[in-house]
Amino acid sequence: MPQGLIHGIYLLSAILFIAGLKRLQSPVTARSGNRAAALGMLLAIIATLFSREILTPVEMLGGLAIGGFIGAVMAKRVKMTAMPELVAAFNGFGGLASALVATAEIIPNLQNTTSVYSYLSILVGTVTFSGSFIAFMKLSGKMTGSPVEFFGRYVITAGFLILIAATIGWAFFGGDILGCIIILAGLSLIFGVLIVLPIGGADMPVIVAFLNALSGLAAAATGFVLENTVLIISGALVGASGIMLTQTMCVAMNRKFWHVLIGGVGGDSAEEMSGKHTDGRSITSTTPDDTAIILNYARKVIIVPGYGLAVAQAQHQVRELAETLQERGVDVKYAVHPVAGRMPGHMNVLLAEANVPYDSLFEMEEINHEFDSTDVALIIGANDVVNPAARHDQSSPIYGMPILNVDQAKTVVFLKRSMRPGYSGVSNLLFFAPNTRMLFGDAKDSVSELITEVKAI
Ligand code: NDP
Repeated sequence: MPQGLIHGIYLLSAILFIAGLKRLQSPVTARSGNRAAALGMLLAIIATLFSREILTPVEMLGGLAIGGFIGAVMAKRVKMTAMPELVAAFNGFGGLASALVATAEIIPNLQNTTSVYSYLSILVGTVTFSGSFIAFMKLSGKMTGSPVEFFGRYVITAGFLILIAATIGWAFFGGDILGCIIILAGLSLIFGVLIVLPIGGADMPVIVAFLNALSGLAAAATGFVLENTVLIISGALVGASGIMLTQTMCVAMNRKFWHVLIGGVGGDSAEEMSGKHTDGRSITSTTPDDTAIILNYARKVIIVPGYGLAVAQAQHQVRELAETLQERGVDVKYAVHPVAGRMPGHMNVLLAEANVPYDSLFEMEEINHEFDSTDVALIIGANDVVNPAARHDQSSPIYGMPILNVDQAKTVVFLKRSMRPGYSGVSNLLFFAPNTRMLFGDAKDSVSELITEVKAI
């Protein structure tokens, strides 16, 4: 294939990546944005394979068919609640692929001076791989989601960083390159584990976004090694968008990035609170028929979805409940917290799947001032993102995280199964507030019963 044509296809791919990213900014255009970026990647892969002439067309088609099939099956099968760990796994494999390609490029040229990008690619790619592996294990519940602390952690981690720098330096000052690569890969693998192990569940969204950025940077470094422009562009785009997402997540949780890296916050404690507080206050349990009456007489209801909505897969029922209320003249809106669920945009994807109109969805800053004029805040499987401890309890690990002001509504109804806390493991004293009602049960069952009761009135 002529070089001019290949560069033309690379340019088209880069345009499709940028247009795709732009369209991912809104749920309305996100699907077409995803398709545009995927088409860009397909074109880039085909052009690269033709330019390198390493595979026959039949082998290329075979590879595309096998890879496409595995991707399609994984995308179809993955549960919404397992999406974050799938993203973590993708980040990890992306990092590993970059490191392996850079290594494969170095090995035949061991006698020549190797560029710094090769070492960066191996370092960042391998750290991304092992860090993402730990994130995957934590998010999928295969190991504890609580911070794993150990004696001398900072000294050990800093020690590994120094050893990594020394190994790269050694390679440049005449060391055995193959030996340096092996040592660098080993040190980087351990370094990735050391960084992610102490990070608790509540900070996982930030780390997954950060690992995503790292996988992009590793790809960009490999692009320099291969002198492949489209890999540099796509890697830089992933790196930049990952860093921006990391920053957005930190702002949403009111956490400094270095504070997240220090770790130690949150866990997967499932310790259940008692229905009676030590100061004598008790919770008020309610039933679907009582809640239906409150909803039916409300003028304005705000639905707050959270992780439990995804677990219960109650999104279709929630949309039906909202429509039933709207038919009766109730103003119904959805309030979406940026870190509700277990991945950025989790609630948007879930509600879009149930065809909830995009114009009913409001971000935290848009809707927070409306709770004091709201009759019912219906909290479906959310907990941390509405926990007022974030506002006033300086000793709480979620202190400072901006939350949805649901406590300002006239009535607050929690739909959840028990008195267990949310992902951060922090108790929620809003359960004991005089204007709060607890509707216990699986969210799908509770919402279905609410629909029946509202229709029966
Ligand atoms: P939380 O984890 O705080 O709370 C979820 C609630 O859902 C729990 O209290 C649980 O209570 C309830 N629940 C679970 N299953 C069901 C069910 N089947 N039916 C009804 N209720 C159910 O969720 P939030 O969305 O409020 O907050 C997200 C948390 O996750 C934050 O701490 C955030 O930092 C963290 N996080 C966010 C990520 C992101 O990117 N969005 C990624 C990783 C972590 P019960 O068991 O009693 O039913």
